[in-house]
Amino acid sequence: MIQQTNPQSTASRNTETPRRVLIVGGVAGGASCAARLRRLAESIEIVLIDRGPYVSFANCGLPYYVGNVISDESSLLVASREMFHERFNIEVHTDTEATSIDRSAGTITVRDLRTGHTRTERYDALVLSPGAAPIRPPLPGVDLPGVFAVRTIPDSRRIRSWITDHSAKTAVVVGGGFIGLEMVENLIQRELAVTVLEKLPQVMPPLDPEMAAPLMEHLAAKGVQLCLGDGLARIEERDGAGLVVVAESGARLSADLVILAIGVRPETALAKDAGLAIGPRGGIVVDAQMRTTDPRIWAVGDVVEVQDVLTGQETVLPLAGPANRQGRVAAESIAGRATQFRGVQATAVVGVLGLTVASTGASEKGLRRAGVTSFEKVYLHPGHHAGYYPGARQIHLKLVFSVPDGRILGAQAVGFEGVEKRIDVIATAIQFHGTVHDLAEAELCYAPQFGAAKDPVNLAGMLAENVLNGDMPVADWLEIDRTDALLLDVREGDEFSRGHIPKAINLPLSQLRSRYVELPKDREIWVCCAVGQRAYFATRFLTQHGYRSRNLSGGYTTYGALKAAGLAS
Ligand SMILES: Cc1cc2nc3c(=O)[nH]c(=O)nc-3n(C[C@H](O)[C@H](O)[C@H](O)COP(=O)(O)OP(=O)(O)OC[C@H]3O[C@@H](n4cnc5c(N)ncnc54)[C@H](O)[C@@H]3O)c2cc1C
Repeated sequence: MIQQTNPQSTASRNTETPRRVLIVGGVAGGASCAARLRRLAESIEIVLIDRGPYVSFANCGLPYYVGNVISDESSLLVASREMFHERFNIEVHTDTEATSIDRSAGTITVRDLRTGHTRTERYDALVLSPGAAPIRPPLPGVDLPGVFAVRTIPDSRRIRSWITDHSAKTAVVVGGGFIGLEMVENLIQRELAVTVLEKLPQVMPPLDPEMAAPLMEHLAAKGVQLCLGDGLARIEERDGAGLVVVAESGARLSADLVILAIGVRPETALAKDAGLAIGPRGGIVVDAQMRTTDPRIWAVGDVVEVQDVLTGQETVLPLAGPANRQGRVAAESIAGRATQFRGVQATAVVGVLGLTVASTGASEKGLRRAGVTSFEKVYLHPGHHAGYYPGARQIHLKLVFSVPDGRILGAQAVGFEGVEKRIDVIATAIQFHGTVHDLAEAELCYAPQFGAAKDPVNLAGMLAENVLNGDMPVADWLEIDRTDALLLDVREGDEFSRGHIPKAINLPLSQLRSRYVELPKDREIWVCCAVGQRAYFATRFLTQHGYRSRNLSGGYTTYGALKAAGLAS
C-alpha cells in the first residue's frame, strides 16, 4: 500500500547518505535499484544478495526458453556477477539467502546455501526485493515429480529436461492467466497437446469476460482444450507413467507434465518477522518513496502493495515495469532525492499463439466490484490499418470512461496486429489524466500500412464523445435479455439471415429513410449492425425524426463475444 505520508519514516528520516546498502533479491527491482544507486553515489558500498544462482536474469523470458524460442540459456542472463563487479563495483552474493533482519542492530543474517554457513551482514540502508512466489495450493499431488511452477532459470531448465527425457506429449496448465497462457504457447511450440484448467469461467482474469471470448475462441481453434469454471482438486500418478489432474468437478485429465500457474504471493516472511507493516492485500506497506515503516528499509517489486491510480485502492501488481521503476525510486530515495512512485494502472500485454491481448486501467467488472457506477463503455472493431491497404486485421477494443467528465478509466484490446500500440497510447493518456476528448484529438502516426487517418484510438475517443454529448446514446448490452425496447437490426437482409439477436427485426439502413414510419414511436429502439457504425448512422437519423433510440455499441460482433462469454442468450 502506498502511503503518501508515512509519519514514522518522515520523522526519523536520516538525510545522510548511507555508507553500506544491502539489497535482498537481485533481479528486476533489486538489480535496477543497485545499478541506479551506483550511478548516483560512487561512495556507497552496495551489496546484492540472492538465494538463486543468478542475478538480473530475464524471468519474463523463461516460458520462451521452455518453448525453445530462446534456445541459448545464457541469453536470459541480462547481467552477471562479474559485470556488476567490474562495471558498477557492486558486490554480488548468489546462492545466499537472507533469513532474518535485526532492525535495531542494522544487520541481516544470511545463509550460504552451498556451505550451509550463516553470517551477519551490516547495513545502513536495506532494500527488500524478494519478489513473489508461485502459489502451490496445499492439495494432494502438487509436489509429485512432473509438476512444475515457473519462476527461475533452473525451473525452466527442469521443464525442458522433463519434456525431453519423458518424451512428453501432453500437458495440463493449471491457471489461465498471463504466465499460464505463455506456457500454453510454448508447450504447443514443443508440440505438446495442452489442456488449461481454470477456476473462473474465462481465461485472462483481468479482462472483462466478453473481451476474453475472442482469446478463448482462438485457443480452441489452435487445439487447446479449455476446462473452465473448474478448479484443481488433486494430482495423481497415472498407472504406468505420467500424471492425472483431477478437477473439482471430478474430471480427470491425463498429462505427462503439469504446470501450476495459479498466481503468485508476495514473499513477505522476512519483512513480517522483522515487524514491518503488511497491508490488506498481503504486500509490504511502503510510502511513495518505497520506504517501509522502518526508515532504514525500503521495499520494491512484487513484494509491495501499491496504489491503483484509478480506483485509489491498494493492490499487488506483479509486473516487471513497476518493479524496475520502483527499484529506481528507492535508489533515488536512498541517495537523498525526493522522487516518488506514482502508483500503477495495470498496463499489460500477452501474446498467445499469434493473438495479442492487452489492457490498461480499470475493467468494467473491476469498477463494478469497487462500487463505481458513473461510467460508460464503447466497443469498436476497426482494422489495425486502413481497410484499403492489403492485410488489415480487426482489433476488438473496449474503452471505459467516467461520466460525465469523460476521464479515461481503462481499455482492453484483442487482435493480431497493432493491439499493444493502441493500449500503450491510451495508457499514456491515462497517466496524464486524459479524457476521451484527448483520445479523439490525439495526433498519431499514419500511413496506410500502419494505421488510419482516424486511428482506432481516435475512433474510440470520438465514439465516447458521441455518448457523452448525447449524439449516440448507447444501450447496455447486459440488459439485452431483459429489455422491452424494440431491437432493430439495420444490416442487409443476407447478413441478418446469417444470424441475429433473438427478437430483433430487420430494417436495413439502405431502406431506413423510406420505411422508418413503420417503426413505433412509443417504444425505445435499440439499434444493432455488424460493428456499430451503421447503427450509429441509424440512431442519428431516428433521433432527429423524434424516435428514442440507442446504439448497441460494437454491434453483432460484440453480441457474439457476449454470448460466448455467457452474458447474453
Ligand atoms: C515466467 C514469468 C514470466 C513473466 N513475464 C512477464 C512479462 O512478460 N511482463 C511483465 O511485466 N512481467 C512478467 N513477469 C513478472 C516479473 O518478472 C516480475 O514482476 C518481476 O520480476 C518482479 O521483480 P522483483 O524484483 O520484485 O522480483 P524477482 O524479479 O522475482 O526477484 C526476486 C529475487 O529475490 C530472490 N530472493 C527472494 N527471497 C530471498 C531471500 N530471502 N534472500 C535472498 N534472495 C531472495 C529470489 O531468488 C529472486 O531471484 C513474469 C514472471 C514470470 C515468473
